Amino acid sequence: MSVLIVGSTALDSIKTPESHNPRLLGGSASHASVAASFFAPVNMVGIVGEDFPRRYLNLYRRHGIDLEGLQITNGKTFHWSGEYELNMNNRRTLETELGVFETFTPLLPKSYRASPYVLLANIAPALQHHVLDQMRKPKLVFADTMDLWLNIALPDFLKLLRRVDGLVLNESEARQLTQDHNLIRAARKIHSLGPRFVIVKKGEHGAILSQGGKLFIAPAYPLQRVIDPTGAGDSFVGGMMGFLAASRGSVEANLRRAMIYGSVVASFCCEGFGLKSITRVTRPAIEKRVRELQAMTKF
Ligand code: AMP
Repeated sequence: MSVLIVGSTALDSIKTPESHNPRLLGGSASHASVAASFFAPVNMVGIVGEDFPRRYLNLYRRHGIDLEGLQITNGKTFHWSGEYELNMNNRRTLETELGVFETFTPLLPKSYRASPYVLLANIAPALQHHVLDQMRKPKLVFADTMDLWLNIALPDFLKLLRRVDGLVLNESEARQLTQDHNLIRAARKIHSLGPRFVIVKKGEHGAILSQGGKLFIAPAYPLQRVIDPTGAGDSFVGGMMGFLAASRGSVEANLRRAMIYGSVVASFCCEGFGLKSITRVTRPAIEKRVRELQAMTKF
């Protein structure tokens, strides 16, 4: 079954202590769509300007990502630049140029409206609502977010939580949203706001799922060298949704395994700038890391 993914489609300029990489393919929808494409057909909704390099469109196509929902319009593509500290965890945003995102209204092609799996990747909550308004009874809706929306669009975001099955957010966002430092209590508070699945991402320390009164801890795949973690969170949730869309049985039964696949896909994302490393990955390479994670966590 297919996955509908809406989010940002961006050009990212990324500085690390070792190098500076301008105008890489980035954005939450790009990372999540490529990650999901290893498992299921992807319909992507986003917007780019006329400056968007053709080779990036070809990259989406090579991954079988359907681009009917990608608007290509006059103006500049959304541009984000960020800089990492030596530990490759702390990151600060240097610049955000909205460009064509300023006037973006996601319009779903008819064939996308019945997509059973929907990922509302990081984008303004008002746009996430707009996508849901056009959908016909999806089977599963997951949303992702970022601190910016908790700061400037909290009412919209809280309304969104009533409309989604699952929320994925990182630990600092969970604390900010609930005003609770303890992540287990925070997850419980988030359930009371709507979502029945709550996943708190902890970067290199993996992710915690809270569902039906139970917890699951998914480790991150341990890497010796992190080149660029930008988009790891998007790859995690994209891989997870792709895996769910390709699996038989209930979401409850498959979600833990889906998170492990998400973790593995995210690990490949971290091994190269932008989408460089992940686009070279094969399904057997993913399966190999899943088996390694299984061996590392068995006791
Ligand atoms: P992550 O590393 O998972 O937090 O995601 C990084 C991606 O988020 C980058 O590729 C950026 O292009 C994208 N991004 C940064 N700021 C925003 C924003 N305000 N809205 C949507 N996407 C953003």
